[in-house]
Amino acid sequence: MRETEAVGEARRQMAVCNACRYCEGYCAVFPAMALRRDFSAGDLSYLANLCHGCKGCYHACQYAPPHAFGVNVPETFARLRQDSYADYAWPQPMGAVFQRNGTIVSLVAALSVIVLLLGTMAWKDPAVFYGQHSGPGAFYRIIPWGLMAAIAGLSFVFALVAMGVGVAKFWKDTGGGSPAPAPIAEGTIDILTLANLGGGGHGCNDIGERFSQGKRHLHHALFYGFGLCFAATSVATIYDHFLGWQAPYGFWSLPVLLGTLGGIGMVIGATGLTWMKIVADPGPIAKSVLGGEYALLMLLWMVAMTGLVLLGLRHTGAMGVLLVIHLGFVLAFFLVLPYSKMVHGAYRGAALIRNAMEKRQAKTA
Ligand code: SF4
Ligand code: SF4
Repeated sequence: MRETEAVGEARRQMAVCNACRYCEGYCAVFPAMALRRDFSAGDLSYLANLCHGCKGCYHACQYAPPHAFGVNVPETFARLRQDSYADYAWPQPMGAVFQRNGTIVSLVAALSVIVLLLGTMAWKDPAVFYGQHSGPGAFYRIIPWGLMAAIAGLSFVFALVAMGVGVAKFWKDTGGGSPAPAPIAEGTIDILTLANLGGGGHGCNDIGERFSQGKRHLHHALFYGFGLCFAATSVATIYDHFLGWQAPYGFWSLPVLLGTLGGIGMVIGATGLTWMKIVADPGPIAKSVLGGEYALLMLLWMVAMTGLVLLGLRHTGAMGVLLVIHLGFVLAFFLVLPYSKMVHGAYRGAALIRNAMEKRQAKTA
């Protein structure tokens, strides 16, 4: 991890926090900080990615601005996290994408939809593109299954490889080692429950000084909604590939039920989290990362909403256009996956597993 301005500022603030330790019960960051006297750039990258941005320590801090110490851990860690995503990015030059993340994610989304739409309009007979289709294989009359699967599969596999290399660099930089099954299980439970957004039980300061579990619940809606949509796509692939049952499927079929529930969860989560960002106290928020966060939430919202609208209108003449728009947003999501705020899940997961390892080592020391 490079010595960026955010790294230097985080080091200064951690020295103050290490002397104070008032926030020890708030989240995993402060106990992990207390295990260290000095902070390498890798240590600070680990602590920043362990931070869930609940803002509890900012509202509790007697040294927060306008105090001369200017301690603002969530703001500084948010900037440091962004630096770490850029630093560990693979291929490395792509790390520059994080500097103007909001603009680039928005541009990729717009271009993916426009290029797919214009390409299909130029290539497809209008009678087919704007026609009504029903029964097995209706979607593939607009875009052949092989083309759809090849584009989605290749971009998804590349995204997984790029994120895997990034997380491997992060893991090495923050101490390396091989985690045993128990810390992996503990870290996984922390990821699935978002325990660090619980503020030690009373919730976080989502919007201002009031404690609530709102951000945690909305993040769950988005996360599990995304998981259900992924499950829907996986079941549909098994139906198509192994059973020969071609989409579109009936409303009560497993892929459609999973996709509908997942899509609704994603829309609720993305809408709520966007609203929270708009109305939240700006004090602990890092303005330089906001553009990328809004752009990703908007992209996830569009992926889910266009999927739901396609479901509702798939038997009409609008199906062709809606299918291409939906696939355009899905393609954009896969393309930006390793170079957007989406990577926070992978780095935060690795940081939580390292934290579970450290806690075990500290107990046995
Ligand atoms: S954030 Fe403030 S109150 Fe909390 S440990 Fe650091 S200095 Fe102390
Ligand atoms: S913002 Fe929340 S998660 Fe991050 S260090 Fe402060 S209390 Fe912990």
